[in-house]
Order: sequence, then C-alpha cells, then structure tokens
Amino acid sequence: MLGFIKSVEQIILRVALDTPLDTTFDYAWIVPDPDQHPILRPSIGQLVIVPFGRQEVAGIVLAIAEKTDVPPNKLRTVLALRSELSPVSPQWLALCQFAAEYYQRPIGEVALPSLPKNLKALKDVSLRRGLNKLEKLSTAQDSVPAEEPRLNPEQQTAVNAITAKNDFAPFLLFGVTGSGKTEVFLQASAKILAQSDDAQVLILVPEINLTPQFEAHIRARFPGLILATLHSGMAEGERLLHWLSAHTGRARIVLGTRLAMLASLPHLRLIIVDEEHDPSYKQQEGLRYSARDLAVWRARQLAIPVVLGSATPSLESWQSARSGKYHLLELHERAVPDAVLPVVKLINLEREKPSEGLTPRLIDSIRLRLEKGEQSLLFLNRRGYAPVLACDACGWISNCTRCTAHMVMHKGDHRLRCHHCGLEQRIPRHCPTCGNIDLQPLGRGTQRMEESLGAIFPEAKVLRIDADSTRLKGSAAAAFDRVHSGEVDILIGTQMVAKGHDFKHLTLVAALNPDAALFSQDYRASERLFAQLMQVAGRAGRAAKKTDGNPSEVLIQTRYPDHPLYHALMAHDYPSFAADLLEERQQAHMPPFMYQALLRAEAKELSIAIDFLKQAASSLHHVGITINDPIPMTMTRVANVDRAQLLVESVSRPALQAFVKEWITILRAMKSRVRWSVEIDPVDI
Ligand SMILES: [Zn+2]
Ligand SMILES: [Zn+2]
Repeated sequence: MLGFIKSVEQIILRVALDTPLDTTFDYAWIVPDPDQHPILRPSIGQLVIVPFGRQEVAGIVLAIAEKTDVPPNKLRTVLALRSELSPVSPQWLALCQFAAEYYQRPIGEVALPSLPKNLKALKDVSLRRGLNKLEKLSTAQDSVPAEEPRLNPEQQTAVNAITAKNDFAPFLLFGVTGSGKTEVFLQASAKILAQSDDAQVLILVPEINLTPQFEAHIRARFPGLILATLHSGMAEGERLLHWLSAHTGRARIVLGTRLAMLASLPHLRLIIVDEEHDPSYKQQEGLRYSARDLAVWRARQLAIPVVLGSATPSLESWQSARSGKYHLLELHERAVPDAVLPVVKLINLEREKPSEGLTPRLIDSIRLRLEKGEQSLLFLNRRGYAPVLACDACGWISNCTRCTAHMVMHKGDHRLRCHHCGLEQRIPRHCPTCGNIDLQPLGRGTQRMEESLGAIFPEAKVLRIDADSTRLKGSAAAAFDRVHSGEVDILIGTQMVAKGHDFKHLTLVAALNPDAALFSQDYRASERLFAQLMQVAGRAGRAAKKTDGNPSEVLIQTRYPDHPLYHALMAHDYPSFAADLLEERQQAHMPPFMYQALLRAEAKELSIAIDFLKQAASSLHHVGITINDPIPMTMTRVANVDRAQLLVESVSRPALQAFVKEWITILRAMKSRVRWSVEIDPVDI
C-alpha cells in the first residue's frame, strides 16, 4: 500500500501510442506528495509506460492538457515515467509529425517503432544499465587521426560549398565510382564537427554490413569522437547503447541505414546520404517512408546542409538538380591519380553462343586474368541453382502452389524453394504429373554458375556471394575478406557484390544476363539496371593505372547490343541517359513530373480485391486528381493472397495529399473483407 497521499495533483497527458488508430490517448499522471517523493513532473517528449487494454505499452507525451473528454472513471493512470531519459526534442517530434501526415499514418506508428525495444518495457533494467555503460564509453583520445589526403580541385570546391554557411542547403554530389565522394563526406564532416563542441553528423548508407570500409575510414579519421552505428542487424542491448549515445549527444557521428533517419539527434548539423539512388532507402512495409526524402525535410527544418551522393542519382534528385532546387556538385575524375575508368564492351549473344551461360570471349578474358593473377567478378542477379525445374515430357514446371511464381531449385540442399512465400519441398525424384524421372533445371542461378565455373576453371578458386551463402552472421564479412586478401580468383554474386567494396585485385567485371530488366513492366527497371551495372562496373580497376597499358574491362553479355542503355553505359554517360529517361517520363506524365499514391488491396480472391478498389475509385473525386483503373499486381498471388492496386496521380503534391487524407477516412468507413494500405510516392508499381 502507498499509504495516505495528501493533496493529490493530477495532470492530463496526451500520449502517442504505436497503434493503427489515428488518435492520441489521454492518461492521468498523479504527482506524488512533494513531502515524501522527489517531484516528478512530466514534460513534452517524455517516454511513459501506460496501460492499454490488458497490456503495458510505451508512449510519448505529445502534450500536457488542461482537461480531457475521457470520463473520470475511464481515465487510466500512467504506470511509469522514463524520467532518467531526457525527453525527445520538439524538432524530433515535428519530424515524426511530418512523416505521419505525409505518409498518412498515425504519429505513434512513426515515433515509437523507431525507439529501441529495451526502452519500451515496464520492468526492464536495461535502460539504467545502458546509461551506465554510456558513462563509461571512451574513445581513443590519444590516438592520432589518420592524415587527410589532399583533395583535387573539384573535391575541394564540394567541401567548401557544403560547409560554406550554417543554413539549409541541399546538394547533389555526382561523381563516378572511385571519384572520391567518400573523401568529400569525411572532410566536410570534419569541418562541421570542428565548428562547435557538440555538432553531430548523420551519415546514411544503403546497407551497413557491406560498408565496413566506410566505418573503418571514419574510425581512423576521427579516433577521438564517439561513433554510433544504427541498423536493423544489431542486438537489442547494443542498439540501445548506440541509440542512447546519439540521443544524449555523446555520439558525434552516427552511421546507419534508413532507420537511422528517425534517430533522435539533438545537435544535428549535417546529413549525408550515400548512394542516394539505392532502393533500400525506401521502407517497403508499414510506414513506407523514403529516408532520402525525410533527410531533405529534416535538413530544411533544422536549417543545415544535406548532401545526397551518387554516381547514378535517382531521376528525382537529378531533376531537382537540373531545375536548381538542389546544388549540383560534380566530380569528373577518379581520385586515384592516373586511374582510368574501365572499358565497357558488349558481347552479342545472338552471334556468340554461350555454353553454360558463358560466351567463349568471356571465358578467354577470365582465363587471361587468371594467368595474370588478377580477379574477375561475375554478376548474376538470381540466386539458387536454377529458377525453374521442368519436365520435357509433359510440360510440368515447378510452380509455387501459393504464389504466381516458380519454385527455385537449390541443388546443395535438394530443395525447391519459393523466394516469395518461403514454401519449401524436396526436389521431386520424378515428374509429379507423368512420372518422368528426367527433370531438367531451366535457366541459371548463382549456384549453377559456381558449379560451371568450377568445371571450366578447375585450377581457380571460385567464391559465390549471395543471400544464401551469407546467411550466417559474420559470413558476408568473412567472404569479402577472402576477396580482399586475394585468396579468390573468380567471384560470382548477386547485387550484394555490387555495393561499396573496393577490390584492389579485381580487373574484370562481367554481367551475365542483365537483359530481363530492359523489358520489365516496372517503369523504373531500366533506371535501376543502369545504376546497378554502373555500380558493379565501378568495382573493377579502382586501382588500375593508365600506365599499365591494360585497363580493367567490363563485359556485358546481351541480346540487345543496340539498346541505348548499354550505349550510355559504354560511354559512362549518366547525364545523357538520364536526360533521355526524363524526357520520356515528362511526355508520359510520370514521376518526377507527377506525384502518385497507390492503394493496394489484398484478399482471398482477386475479384474481392478488385471490387473493393472499384468502390474506392468511385468514392471520391477531386479536380486535378486522376484515378486509374484497378489492376491485379504483376505478381498477383503471394502466399495464397491475391493482390490488386489502384494508382492515383496529380501534378500537384498538396492536391494529392489533400485527396488522400480525405480518401483514407472514407476507406476506413467502408465495410470490406480486404486488407488495404496506401503508399505515398510508391517505387514498385
Ligand atoms: Zn512430366
Ligand atoms: Zn510461394
């Protein structure tokens, strides 16, 4: 029992909770008797633990209210104030509020999932433990920072521009792979950090496990500063510690993936988004936000510079730079003196017939590199052994019973596996329909290429890197270490090998089968293919010198050697490729000249989903808003659920926002058996 409490004072707190209900919740906080307890008064931005239904959940105080509409007998009491944690800043709450409104979700669904789990449990000692650990965090104060390399004039211009004034300024740093963008990021960060004792810099990368070199550069250059890393692969205790170090301002540099965009950073002075075109900056479920777009918003709110870097910028950013909305900073040269761009050549598959997926010319080139002790990288964006298993006798193919997709053959563990719903089965010994025992794998995945390479080059060390070969924690890093140490002769991999790494010994890159993306229904497929091929090409010869007389080469096997995309690639000419695409998009009224929202519906039967979308389409009309016809999604069925979509467009972003806001209220009121969601600025259509 608490005993007798005199002069009880009650404060009403308006709290955001992580629920899909678009509302805030009122709770009472009973101020304890000041004679017996230290006075604890909640403030805005404070984390609280409250009862919700039968659960105890975390909430964030959004306001302290004068009164509440909740009747006194229904008003529940706050269970705990996380008073040992300083409140989040009003700027951070404003960021969440903006994201909530823009992406049309409740603020609680934005703010609370971004906090470490350990903060949110009622009985959890890890917060105090985390704060204690934080106290003891030390840095290598006495170690000497690695020397800053001299910048070339273009790099220097970029650093000067970024750090010129303390105000909102969005930059697009455009430079080929190896042109020294990282050095610009590091030296601009150094200048900003030197401007005040508490300044924080946020650096976003697409995938943290693939950029250990970046992290190593930061640690070497700033040994006296605390670096926090934030990404989804961290253990909870570790994540809490890093989040706290960012939130308390102790971490001066925060390196993270898209989720770090929602970190609490009280003294943020510079935001950097590396490889800004990368699709992983877009969250694809729940709150479908774009970390890149939020970066620009956050920089404007805080009146600070933001730098988006890429060798193949997104068309959105490129258009913003062309129209003068962003400042364009260009790096034309590779930063290593005398280093040259790799030579890109096409191999016409109509003329040179491949065996085992490799043309004779490619085989010869790999052999040449092997003889010289150099590495080759083969890029094939398809994991597994073969994408389909088929019966020649009756035409049976390995379709997934639950999806509009094939089951992929994985030879090593004798499985057929659906990459969309996860369904697995043993590879059948004979055809399930006709009993034929001679089933044929069709097409090639990375496992099959690995096998073929082993047969063609028995003396070579072949290594495969894809999601299957790197499932165990730490195995990706170990695999990349083997490549760096020169232990590997031929590397075969998916897009995992395209990102981030500088391979010193690598002089040949080949794309085995990139054509499929040229004719994809997704209008962004060619933009992505170009970026992917430029990026993987950039792995080659980052150290190769002009004087070697033997530049690195990139070979692309294709049936369409006249395609403009490949010609732009051969010329290393992103600007003209982007100009062509932008013209197409403008004529076709597509983004970035049009703003879009996508309503998705999922149901047991396609007709139910389509009916819902038809009803939704006729439920609201605004001038200037185009509502397209409902259509089934390209991959209609996943895990026994049928999916359809309805695209809504406008040339005006505010008009689209106003429409969607009203529309969602109507959709919520519609009685329906479908699961639906609205995505703003969808990227996969
Ligand atoms: Zn058969
Ligand atoms: Zn499936």
